[in-house]
Amino acid sequence: MRVLLLGGTAEARDLAARLVGLGIPVTSSLAGRVSRPRLPEGQVRIGGFGGAAGLADHVRDQGVTHLVDATHPFATTMTEHAVAAASAADVPLVRLARPGWGGRADTTDWRWCASLAEVRQVAGGLGRRPFVSSGRQTLPAFASWADREVLVRVVEPLDGDVPEGWTVVEDRGPYALDGELELMARHRVDVLVTKDSGGGYTAAKLDAAARLGIPVVLLARPEPPAGLIAVTTVEDVLGALGVGAAAPRG
Ligand code: NAP
Repeated sequence: MRVLLLGGTAEARDLAARLVGLGIPVTSSLAGRVSRPRLPEGQVRIGGFGGAAGLADHVRDQGVTHLVDATHPFATTMTEHAVAAASAADVPLVRLARPGWGGRADTTDWRWCASLAEVRQVAGGLGRRPFVSSGRQTLPAFASWADREVLVRVVEPLDGDVPEGWTVVEDRGPYALDGELELMARHRVDVLVTKDSGGGYTAAKLDAAARLGIPVVLLARPEPPAGLIAVTTVEDVLGALGVGAAAPRG
């Protein structure tokens, strides 16, 4: 058995640690977008494969027997490539995607949107001091907010300039409620913009928004490729790989 684990998420690191602990050969793959990535246990390779065909070649060349796609729920291109490559190389694919935030009870003032254009329109009508926490790649959608006091949080320094009135904070999760409350109060945030990343690492901002009575505008997840069945936990992946009965390390 040789697992290629498409990663870049906390749950991918958790899965890598479990596989290493079970003695299963695993190589984690990272896109290489983050300058100081948190590295998973086990072997790691960094950088794109050159499309679905390149990924299929890599799977064949490296003798990969199982492909696991544990990339972020919004990394749609990589997931599409994983589906195509698994089919082309004839290896099983397991998709690990953490549950979205839709099941949370505190959805007091949440607005779900299907596109970034809709997010801009809805959030733009709700506040003048948005906290944009939907990721660097979404920022161009909000360029027309140049006259607003926008608070942006990104993991990596931005490549280009942002409008003068914007404040850019570089940070990465996990975040705690106290810090989120302080940040949002200090910047007098009046609407929170996010995407439905799910999981606990970045969820404190939702609790903070609820406490402060701030509306939340969420970009809904894209539809997964047809026929792709996703599991939501590391244990489910181990089960799908047929190694689920083993106990965790330590
Ligand atoms: P994407 O748009 O779905 O993928 C674009 C291209 O990046 C892919 O075609 C592939 O290049 C390369 N790539 C993506 N993930 C890779 C991986 N794990 N290993 C090797 N190459 C990878 O991806 P994205 O949304 O930019 O996300 C990039 C990475 O950041 C992913 O690993 C994802 O898990 C992580 N991440 C994304 C988000 C988000 O909001 N999108 C948030 C947190 C973490 P080739 O075609 O050349 O193979």
